[in-house]
Amino acid sequence: MAKNIEKTMDKLVSLSKRRGFIFQSSEIYGGINSCYDYGPLGIEMKKNIKELWWKSMVYERDDIEGIDASILMHPKVWEASGHVEGFTDPMIDCKVCKSRFREDQIDTSKPCPVCGNRDSFTEARHFNLMFKTFMGPVEDSASVVFLRPETAQGIYVNFHNVREAARKKLPFGIAQIGKAFRNEITPGNFIFRTREFEQMEMQFFVRPGEDEKWFEYWKEQRMKWYSRLGLRSEKLRFHEHGPNELAHYAKSAFDIEYEFPFGWQEIEGVHNRGDFDLSRHKEYSGKDLRYFDDQAKERFIPYVVETSIGCDRTLLTCLVDAYTEEEERVVMKFAPSIAPIKAAVFPLVKRDGMPELAKEVIADLRGDYRVFYDEAGSIGKRYRRQDEAGTPFCFTIDTETLGNNTVTVRYRDTMEQKRIDISKIKSFLRDELKF
Ligand code: ATP
Repeated sequence: MAKNIEKTMDKLVSLSKRRGFIFQSSEIYGGINSCYDYGPLGIEMKKNIKELWWKSMVYERDDIEGIDASILMHPKVWEASGHVEGFTDPMIDCKVCKSRFREDQIDTSKPCPVCGNRDSFTEARHFNLMFKTFMGPVEDSASVVFLRPETAQGIYVNFHNVREAARKKLPFGIAQIGKAFRNEITPGNFIFRTREFEQMEMQFFVRPGEDEKWFEYWKEQRMKWYSRLGLRSEKLRFHEHGPNELAHYAKSAFDIEYEFPFGWQEIEGVHNRGDFDLSRHKEYSGKDLRYFDDQAKERFIPYVVETSIGCDRTLLTCLVDAYTEEEERVVMKFAPSIAPIKAAVFPLVKRDGMPELAKEVIADLRGDYRVFYDEAGSIGKRYRRQDEAGTPFCFTIDTETLGNNTVTVRYRDTMEQKRIDISKIKSFLRDELKF
């Protein structure tokens, strides 16, 4: 089993590098642990995932607004949020091989998974996951700041700014996509757990008493989003946090989990945070962060339902879900809406005006879609290259095109081919790429 997991992940890592999805960061210097760079295909996919999230959260609704808050925030934010005191993981070391683990992720009654020695673990120590740095030229404690470990706090501290500027009434949400940093004890599984990552978070502010209804609503909405993303439904499930798993801020929490080659793991958290966040910021900032309800004529601290998802982890999920080995090919069966390249255009041969015509088609699509022109090698090889990149459609200009203006469209997943009029390519793509 363990060998198979390794094999699948190794194949994915090597395809990601070979085709330009993901590279090890600073590779020419030997790499840096758990940091990755997105290549030409990876960045397109990441952009698509973020756009689809933004579309479903902001564009398709009238009760959510977006923001982009700063990564560095006032240090008091992290005292109020509970991160200075409580954002820790229990860390243990193996006294023999010096390997480091998260106590909640291994069975300490068993031998060390690295060196195999028994009873070699230290006592657990609490390790704060926030990255510290210094603001300004003098490294003294007065100027200590943190790289944010989550984007959510930028939303809470802007609750009233957004409410006033966008003239919002409860219930309404604020969405944000941005980098977060956690000094994870055991990063790993490729981009599943890294120390720098991007989150897509939405905080929905509601009246106290309406939180449970909205919590159920957001659980359902978020699960639906994954099927829009094209993920296999049998690979997705909810996991409810038991009393021992609940974070300090949470009234109740569900994870959405995906079955990776290395097991069921969280890809998103949906949390009912009660009034914890705004109450704490009210207390620590001394500002009255209550909401005035002009119908009920009362002031109160809104409750928050949060949906929090990692963009990189979603991308990994999409890669894992799409990776398919067939007899003669490896094919990435991405939903067309997240595929990095939407279409490839080929001249069947490099003569008779076919390349020129193919380039005209490409020129017409460029600007609207990421498309790819390829005239090198046999048509079969060109299809295979696009299969590995996950390109859903290939259009081929052939002899028939010269006679009747039709092209072959070849579907990636079924390899089925049909002919459509050259003038219909754009509308074909528009229909097929609807999210
Ligand atoms: P864990 O218990 O696995 O450390 P968490 O419960 O602390 O994770 P949350 O704080 O709920 O995670 O973060 C929300 C989402 O952000 C996660 O579901 C995940 O998609 C993403 N995320 C969190 N930490 C990382 C990380 N180190 N690398 C990549 N993505 C992450």
